[in-house]
Amino acid sequence: MPKSIVKVALDVPLNRLFDYLSDNSEIRIGQRVLVPFGRRNQIGIVLSQSDSSDYPIEKLKSVKQVFIDETPLDAELLKLIRFSADYYQYPLGQALLSALPVRLRQVAPAVARKQFIYSLTDLGRSQTVAQLPKRQLVTHRVFSALLASNTVSEAELDTISSSARKAAKQLVANGWASAKQVHLLQRVAEIPTAQVPELNDEQQSAVAEVIKDSHHFKSWLLHGITGSGKTEVYIRLMQHVLMQNEAQVLVLVPEINLTPQLEARFRSRFSGIPLVSLHSHLSESERLHHWQLAQSGVARIIIGTRLSVFTPLPHLKLIIIDEEHDGSYKQQDSMRYHARDVALVRAKWLNIPVVLGSATPSLESWHNATVTAAGLKANKYHLLSLNQRAVTAAQLPIIHCIDTTKVHLQHGFTPQLIEALKLRISRGEQSLLFINRRGFSPVLLCSACHWIAPCTRCSSRLVVHLGQRKLRCHHCGYEQKIPNQCPSCGNADLHPTGHGTQRLEQTLAQLLPTARIARVDRDSISKKNALVEILDKVHRQEIDILVGTQMLAKGHDFPNLTLVGVIDADSALHSPDFRASERLFAQLMQVAGRAGRADKTGQVIIQTQFPEHVLFNALRRQDYASYANALLHERQQMQFPPYIFMALLRAEANDFNLVHQFLSYAFKVARDLNTKVVVYDPIRPQMERLKGMERGYVLMQAGNRGVLQKLLNRLVAQLRGHTASAKVRWAIDVDPLEF
Ligand code: ADP
Ligand code: ZN
Ligand code: ZN
Repeated sequence: MPKSIVKVALDVPLNRLFDYLSDNSEIRIGQRVLVPFGRRNQIGIVLSQSDSSDYPIEKLKSVKQVFIDETPLDAELLKLIRFSADYYQYPLGQALLSALPVRLRQVAPAVARKQFIYSLTDLGRSQTVAQLPKRQLVTHRVFSALLASNTVSEAELDTISSSARKAAKQLVANGWASAKQVHLLQRVAEIPTAQVPELNDEQQSAVAEVIKDSHHFKSWLLHGITGSGKTEVYIRLMQHVLMQNEAQVLVLVPEINLTPQLEARFRSRFSGIPLVSLHSHLSESERLHHWQLAQSGVARIIIGTRLSVFTPLPHLKLIIIDEEHDGSYKQQDSMRYHARDVALVRAKWLNIPVVLGSATPSLESWHNATVTAAGLKANKYHLLSLNQRAVTAAQLPIIHCIDTTKVHLQHGFTPQLIEALKLRISRGEQSLLFINRRGFSPVLLCSACHWIAPCTRCSSRLVVHLGQRKLRCHHCGYEQKIPNQCPSCGNADLHPTGHGTQRLEQTLAQLLPTARIARVDRDSISKKNALVEILDKVHRQEIDILVGTQMLAKGHDFPNLTLVGVIDADSALHSPDFRASERLFAQLMQVAGRAGRADKTGQVIIQTQFPEHVLFNALRRQDYASYANALLHERQQMQFPPYIFMALLRAEANDFNLVHQFLSYAFKVARDLNTKVVVYDPIRPQMERLKGMERGYVLMQAGNRGVLQKLLNRLVAQLRGHTASAKVRWAIDVDPLEF
């Protein structure tokens, strides 16, 4: 039999496939294989079969092993990953392999957590217990269990006796029973079914509209203020879709912190429906197991962070993207994909509905769902609005901005905020203080010469962590002891200047000595479960004041929390990043939404030097729509996304000259390739140096994606072949979110 040739995708930074010989007739497309590559073996995925090769056949090596027992990746997923690799200008093999659980990328065989389940054969069913040897009591009980139910799993056998598995195998040997390997879901503790609320009119019509169109592709933007019951809408849509045999639903969430709560809420409403989560806090073996449950169709609900958009789901019928505006849907290294955008493509190709939910949609989505400034409807998404809080008694919080230039600050606090905190403590209510800066204070300043402790590896300052007596860079992780004197002038009077979460916590403890305070930031919750523990304490009313970063802004629902204080949000008002105000508004709306979730009206106090800024005016009215429209108008004037499409060529190296040479070359190539794409001169980002690397980029923009894609394809091909490209680390970032 002639050997056939398979084309294999490998995890190597080359945008091509590799030919191997294989005589295994069962090998299929999407199959995992082990192949020799260089001096090692590598895992690859078969992408096509052929009987010819561009290389001399006698030089081709053979596939070492075909993982024939594993279900191959299906065509739908392969197509999606191929599209993403093309669109985001990333080598296909790397895109494919990095979408797999780590265990499936490793050369060591992946151990699937499969279980044997047993059932009786026809022979077995015609027998009685009396026919078994008298003394084998365990075998009797196993046989009885098999008679009583169709199948018995290994886990169920274990509840009979520690030797029950052996007894079951004995029955198989006798021909009484048969065994089959399957993916099984672990039993999880049942969560009592939560009370099912009756939908209000807005929720009802949102659900009805989507259900009416639930059998084909349609993208919905569910815009609902915090607490308006978006999650309840998701649940109803899921229930509807899951009534179909086998149907699977994918729910994307931005952060790992959100999965346990959402998971618990879903479990309480979907009891008996197999649900798995996929995120980076799982162990590698759990991740593999969950992924396989999804791939085999056993799991019907999959909740996951951005990478789970690339999970094989043979019966996917609905995609939900919660907090669709969240920046963490965009991957910031390797393949820089945006999970929301990939999900939209996936839904379109599968011809299924996709629901994007947010209180503050991204301007891209808002633009797609509303009438544009020019009066034209972009009309790609269908807008669903929830304008009221779902719990009828819950009112929207009242938002005040306090002008910090007009009052005397006490350690960074306005008298109004301190009074408001005291009032909450006296009433037995809870407060949340939000500051987007962890550590004690953001800079260490010399009072004599104004030296500021810098990070030597980044263009940034070291943050004071007083508790650990350390200076730490939040960009590269560099750490050093706090110096006793100024390295520049010798002065011993060094001041931590400005506020971070640790300092707020400390100051509060002095100002309000009876308050029970907890801090939530990346330092305080680095341990697994630390956040869950703090949140439990809040729910048990053992905390009066929570101090924290944006980690606190999302998803948490504290009925007794009635005050939110925002400290020092001004820096984002004047950021050169054109997305900064969009982000700040979303963030503040979200934290504000934490106040007054139940029957108590909430208050939000924002300390700012610019209380009359348009952003704060819109925030006070809690008017997302008008602010979004104003920002869109600005974006249109300035020709920023979503009115144009951008891509960055990023480069970095130890030596800026190399970066400059490379980018200057790339700039010329790009500029000459297509006049419809505007190519800007190489520039340096705000963070010029990061982790010891000098950075720069070339920005390209065009009126449509197609033109830009064509240029990128040709540019990348040219760059890959050029010597300057070997001396720098470079990458293409399509639809960049950060500059
Ligand atoms: P969102 O996801 O928009 O922030 P949720 O779905 O979490 O809102 O709803 C906020 C709160 O309101 C939750 O406690 C939820 O159980 C409750 N809720 C949602 N819909 C209703 C309803 N129709 N009637 C009563 N309570 C509701
Ligand atoms: Zn000094
Ligand atoms: Zn640094």
